[in-house]
Amino acid sequence: MGCESNEELNSFVEEARKYAEKGKVAEYIPALGRANPCDLAIAIYYPNGTCYSAGDVEKKFTLQSISKVIALALVLIDRGRDYVFERVGMEPTGDPFNSIIKLETMAVAKPLNPMINAGALVVTHMIKGNSIGERFERLASFIRTLSGDPSVSYCEEVAQSEYETAHLNRALCYFLKAHQIIKEDIEPLMELYTKQCAIEMNCLDLARIGLVFAMDGVDPINGKQIIPLDVARICKTFMVTCGMYNASGEFAIKIGIPAKSGVSGGIMGAVPCKFGIGVFGPALNEIGNSIAGIKLLELLSEKYQLSIF
Ligand code: GLU
Repeated sequence: MGCESNEELNSFVEEARKYAEKGKVAEYIPALGRANPCDLAIAIYYPNGTCYSAGDVEKKFTLQSISKVIALALVLIDRGRDYVFERVGMEPTGDPFNSIIKLETMAVAKPLNPMINAGALVVTHMIKGNSIGERFERLASFIRTLSGDPSVSYCEEVAQSEYETAHLNRALCYFLKAHQIIKEDIEPLMELYTKQCAIEMNCLDLARIGLVFAMDGVDPINGKQIIPLDVARICKTFMVTCGMYNASGEFAIKIGIPAKSGVSGGIMGAVPCKFGIGVFGPALNEIGNSIAGIKLLELLSEKYQLSIF
């Protein structure tokens, strides 16, 4: 069924950690460049509340692109799928996460999916609320509910660092504003988006969120349906088709679980009906996924036959 002790998980972590030296931490957001490339941690959360973990478990990291799945769930709940998919598509791109090229070359200038930056910025634009503060709080409180951790907040240093350097994301926003897909002022939207990306937690919290997705939106610890079934399914489908950047196909073949990664080195995994996974390893491969984290998931998937395919 799956891992049954911290010791077992520990041996996988130590095996996978060797790969960290082949990766590099993200530096385009200056504050992320200060992460320790050797860090590696994993947590696995089961529906009965049992949690196994190993490695640098208490280390906090920012969600970055992992937040895109959660923001998508929130706007799908708030606005319904017709409204959302009129403004953002459902197809993988094959381009880097921050590319502008398809926006210009496709007949309709709507982002191809919500997992690339252009699509994620449109999703953040759709978060309801009367002010940036209120919209951020709605997302943060949704994340606190999903993780079961009322202390979840954002890292000001990382948010500020990205806000000061996010010129490419600004360019995407202005392009989308020119095409009336984004309708608000860009600077406040950038503030909201960079705070969203800077929401931080450890891999135990992340595994608990992965568990809710794995259980079709139900938090099995308290029995509450936090995300409607259809929304949880849409999110998991995006995780499979475009959750791991341009290595989503390879990840589906080698590991085969719905997962979403971020440039801070986090990976959230949802093994349907079985458990949630949270991984943190800031050294990235050339595609932008945690190099040791991927190895770790490969070892786990092979040992426990986790592929859903
Ligand atoms: N905040 C990052 C950006 O928009 C997120 C990217 C990622 O994790 O893929 O550039």
